[in-house]
Amino acid sequence: MDKSWVHFERTSKEFHEGLCLFLNYAFENGFVTEDNKVKCPCKECANIHYKTRDEIYDDLVTCGMLRSYTVWYHHGEGFRTTFPRNLGAENINADQVIMDNNGEEVGDDITGMLRDAYGLRADEDMINFENI
Ligand SMILES: [Zn+2]
Repeated sequence: MDKSWVHFERTSKEFHEGLCLFLNYAFENGFVTEDNKVKCPCKECANIHYKTRDEIYDDLVTCGMLRSYTVWYHHGEGFRTTFPRNLGAENINADQVIMDNNGEEVGDDITGMLRDAYGLRADEDMINFENI
């Protein structure tokens, strides 16, 4: 997802359009409360307070998005990584490498990872995987 808009003038068309896309994304993919609120990533709320779409729009125009909030994990981005399969930090990082900003796979390197992990040859992966 394009995030360059967060650095534009908050009165600009680019900021407005990017913000609308972000809100669409957040309310589709993120955690939405029963009263239809998501965490507000503005500098004031800092992803602590839940707000409605309109409130978040106003907040982000007024004070801007947190600079440090570059992976929108509170709003659906890399959502799988919020449910780690175990407590190992390596696995969480591995997911983030594979998923791009839109949550799509950027590379099909899962077999490569398995090969590295288990020492399998690529042409044996599919055959032997179930026997591991
Ligand atoms: Zn806010």
